[in-house]
Amino acid sequence: MLTSLSGNLKAMLRIPKYLFSEHRPLNMCALINNCFAGYFQYGIIGNTIRIEVSGICQLKCPICIPQKDAIKGRGYMRFGDFKKIVDDNLNFKNVEISLTGEIFLNPELNDIIRYAHMKKLNITIRSGVNLNTVSEELLECLVKYRVRIMNISIDGASNDTYKIYRIGGNFYRVIENIKKINSYKKKYNSELPRLIWQFIAFGHNEHEIAIAKKMAKQLNMRFLLKLNAWNSAYSPVRNKEFLRKEIGYATADECEEKTHKIYMFACHQLWYSPQITWDGKLIGCSANCKGVWGDFGNVFESGLKNCLNSEKYIYTKKMLLGREKERSDIPCMQCDKYAKVKSYKINPIIDIFPMLLWFYQ
Ligand code: SF4
Repeated sequence: MLTSLSGNLKAMLRIPKYLFSEHRPLNMCALINNCFAGYFQYGIIGNTIRIEVSGICQLKCPICIPQKDAIKGRGYMRFGDFKKIVDDNLNFKNVEISLTGEIFLNPELNDIIRYAHMKKLNITIRSGVNLNTVSEELLECLVKYRVRIMNISIDGASNDTYKIYRIGGNFYRVIENIKKINSYKKKYNSELPRLIWQFIAFGHNEHEIAIAKKMAKQLNMRFLLKLNAWNSAYSPVRNKEFLRKEIGYATADECEEKTHKIYMFACHQLWYSPQITWDGKLIGCSANCKGVWGDFGNVFESGLKNCLNSEKYIYTKKMLLGREKERSDIPCMQCDKYAKVKSYKINPIIDIFPMLLWFYQ
């Protein structure tokens, strides 16, 4: 326990400063109040929810998991459904709206963002967008309705490299759209949304990392270099030493072996920010993509509170903490991260790092 806490304290010290600077003033009374309300009503800690507004994507990225599961059905969340979740669950103040699809392909996104702003919700787009197909009106809406932060997936610093992975995308179009957002930020005299250039390092693009970093700075963006955590066989990095200098590890496996933590950990979301899909399924965490391993009911039909308080959801949390036996109908049984949670003895609740991300988003 002590080792785990000291590891988490070290992780806290490594939190990028911008996560603090972007945050609104901290109101401790409201925070404690929300924590209690969240726990007693929903069994969760805090006031963050993850609502996937789009399951549709126009690109064909080779190792994208939702791409492979396309047969399971795709669609987008209707404004009316989003509004109902928000109106029925006033306790939630932070809403992450991206997951598997491209949010800008939802034709009702403008209404969703405008309504969230009206209800004083903090909208984040951290799972990422490709920003290839987006109307001028929506670009302005991101600034006007004060979306807090947006990760843009750009794995290259030239069109030739970019389109190797982002098949169907166009690098120049993305950069143009970023410039347009920046000009709206000037017009509205706003720092929001903070833009993050998210770059997944592969063998075919590692030579462009330095130039992408430079371009991000010129575009007033933070640069976030990530490891390929989905399929280590696809275009593996060659210059491992360079990656170790940049991130500390050359691969996701190396990171996990060294730290005994899971790279792209998601289990904590069951407690801190439960995930709902575009068609209303409560899937618990973002790793349970599209609910392919099972779900915890449909919030459109049963309501979010009932789904979060369902026997299966509560059992899953207990099982992850090692307080209940394994059960075949629990989605985690099909997830490779579950074995790591057990072998590294990870406790998703006391993982302070995600808790701080939730605080400061
Ligand atoms: S083990 Fe369960 S909670 Fe953790 S990432 Fe996998 S499906 Fe999600």
